[in-house]
Amino acid sequence: MVVVRVDPDLRWLLPPRYRAAGARPLPADADATVGHLVQAAGVPLTEVGAVRLGGAPVGRATRPGLRAVLDVEPVVRPRPVPPGGFLLDVGLGTLARRLRLLGLDAAWSNDADDPSLVEQAAAEHRVLLTQDRGLLMRRALSHGALVRGSRPDDQLADVLDRFAPALAPLTRCAACNGPLEPAPKAEVLAQLEPGTRRTVEDFSRCTQCRRVYWRGAHATRIDAVVRAATARAHGLIGG
Ligand SMILES: [Zn+2]
Repeated sequence: MVVVRVDPDLRWLLPPRYRAAGARPLPADADATVGHLVQAAGVPLTEVGAVRLGGAPVGRATRPGLRAVLDVEPVVRPRPVPPGGFLLDVGLGTLARRLRLLGLDAAWSNDADDPSLVEQAAAEHRVLLTQDRGLLMRRALSHGALVRGSRPDDQLADVLDRFAPALAPLTRCAACNGPLEPAPKAEVLAQLEPGTRRTVEDFSRCTQCRRVYWRGAHATRIDAVVRAATARAHGLIGG
């Protein structure tokens, strides 16, 4: 029998009856690799840092034998964001809009299937954010991360903690992820409510969908999003 012992931070990924002990026994299989065993215990490799056998780090492809005890550590935070930015699973649309509000490149569509998400992540060098462990365990996935939390505030806090990305609020369209560019007031007048027309002078416009943004309307919302995320970060990490 092989035993996979996980760090307390990863225990929630084990089936409920193994969580208190933080260890899951698995049937012995001489051919099973470390990577296979960790995932068989329920932990996607995207969530894993070092794996130790008798205290020494071992590679994912190592075959630890029939009576091994593996110790699994969580991925070290923060991780760099891949050059292409983020790609979000279908169910994470609210999180995608929040990342975009903070200026982060966050691709998302509401009808992508699993194979096309894996393909897009590889083709565009993006990290796939999802809450679907099966998707993260797909062999072809290059970069993935399991998003913690059921509420968007918690999810955002988790992503900001995991990747610590540089934020650039109001540089990206929350609706379509397109970059924003400054727009002369005269060109956007027709799209404005009378109150905004009177009181706001500086505008940005999405280079893709032409939606108009200005600080007055969005700054308060962005401040609230950042505040909520950072306030939750401490409570969330390690739990
Ligand atoms: Zn847009």
